[in-house]
Amino acid sequence: MREYLKFYIDGKWVDPVEPKTSEVVNPATEAVSGRISMGSAADVEKAVAAARRAFAGWSETTREQRLDVLLAIQSEYAKRQDELGDAITEEMGAPVSLGRGFHVALGAGHLQTAIEVLREFKFEELRGSTMIRQEPIGVCGLITPWNWPMNQTCVKIFPALATGNTMILKPPQLAPFSAHILAEILDAAGVPAGVFNMIQGSGSVIGTALSTHEDVDMISFTGSEPVGVQIQKDAAPTVKRVGLELGGKSAFIVLDDAALADNVAAATVGMMGNSGQTCSAGSRLLVPAARMDEVVASARAACDSVTVGDPQGNFAMGPVVSKSQFNIIQEYIQKGLDEGAQLVAGGLGRPEGIDKGWFVKPTVFVGSNDMVIAREEIFGPVLVIIGYDDIDQAVAIANDSTFGLAGYVNGLDIDQVRAVGKRLRTGWVSLNGGFDFHAPFGGYKRSGNGREWGEFGFHEYLEIKSLLGYASA
Ligand code: NAD
Repeated sequence: MREYLKFYIDGKWVDPVEPKTSEVVNPATEAVSGRISMGSAADVEKAVAAARRAFAGWSETTREQRLDVLLAIQSEYAKRQDELGDAITEEMGAPVSLGRGFHVALGAGHLQTAIEVLREFKFEELRGSTMIRQEPIGVCGLITPWNWPMNQTCVKIFPALATGNTMILKPPQLAPFSAHILAEILDAAGVPAGVFNMIQGSGSVIGTALSTHEDVDMISFTGSEPVGVQIQKDAAPTVKRVGLELGGKSAFIVLDDAALADNVAAATVGMMGNSGQTCSAGSRLLVPAARMDEVVASARAACDSVTVGDPQGNFAMGPVVSKSQFNIIQEYIQKGLDEGAQLVAGGLGRPEGIDKGWFVKPTVFVGSNDMVIAREEIFGPVLVIIGYDDIDQAVAIANDSTFGLAGYVNGLDIDQVRAVGKRLRTGWVSLNGGFDFHAPFGGYKRSGNGREWGEFGFHEYLEIKSLLGYASA
């Protein structure tokens, strides 16, 4: 049982102003795995005041001073990787190999990237006689989701720190443990008091208090579209910058060539990773309609190969995060059946032999792009295969979505892969499995307005100042 009842404010672990707690449930066992404190607006006041006080000094630090702090964090992070991974397994159900593996590696990757970018970043540039200077925006509210907890927090905290900002992190209520450990890591690394603060609690209380706060300059939010819209409204009266990283319904286009079966299998297994709870998941698989039989055989075999079970055991997929998420996914699977989609694998209910925990069957449908299961983000291990007649139609289907977060193109002809990738109206397109920590990540359309990761992630936290007449002519 974990008891994380204190908040991290002004460099100290402190009790909440008003004592109130909430239980955290392990989605694999349905048993209570810990307790956290639920903060109030009064805690936000304390944290914002601390962050404002700290801003004066931290914003004036040199590149080298901030690099030293990031390097100290890196060494503390390395010591606690397995602990972080195990916390992630307990809070959101990722298998141990995934929790200790890719989940933690993503956080480490963003930290290493922030260090590399900070070493080279141009904060000042002379253009003619004008000095263009990039300065930290101020006090930032960072609001994160539960699905990739280390990725989402680290991709905000480290660029914000590197650019001289101070911050208040509001972790997700469903997955608060790893964020608590991360705060301990920052504390042990000697981040100056008030620069980083963390308050646990609900979005409606802590999130709203941050979004509406007069003295918060920026909100960086990752989460669902409706909450992103609400935050923009809440932030409007104080004209603060709002960076939004929202949902997706991304297309995975497999080209018509000899690698089709392998690419379909890779796309199917990829969709089931993290129990399908990935904003950038390729949840619509677009394939040549003429080869649908081959596609279905490959997708079914790949889906059946995804083992599901106890995240402490040797299984590829654990549960989904909560009972409510389980129920939402079941409703979508039922909707797919009602809409007349062809069920290829999986379906309703828990996998055979499992009667406890929020485990979902990896599920594959063949459907069409007008179906609800192809239009709405399910956020579970549910893949919809859609046939296309030619590449123009594949691109049209891919772009026929209110979202525009990610895209995938796999095929043997790299020129065609590149050409198709360029036509997708999304912010992040992976060609034949390409991955890069330095590549900007973010969405078009209703998938958001920000760009995180690498150098582009730094710009989220920077104001631009012109100093005219800086250099004498
Ligand atoms: P969510 O929107 O329910 O919650 C996200 C965070 O916002 C949580 O910390 C929550 O407590 C807080 N929150 C809730 N109401 C709030 C309010 N009124 N004001 C301020 N904060 C509030 O999302 P979730 O269920 O935690 O995460 C799943 C969603 O996140 C999916 O839609 C997914 O696609 C999206 N996501 C996007 C990205 C990306 O980079 N684009 C990455 C991961 C997840």
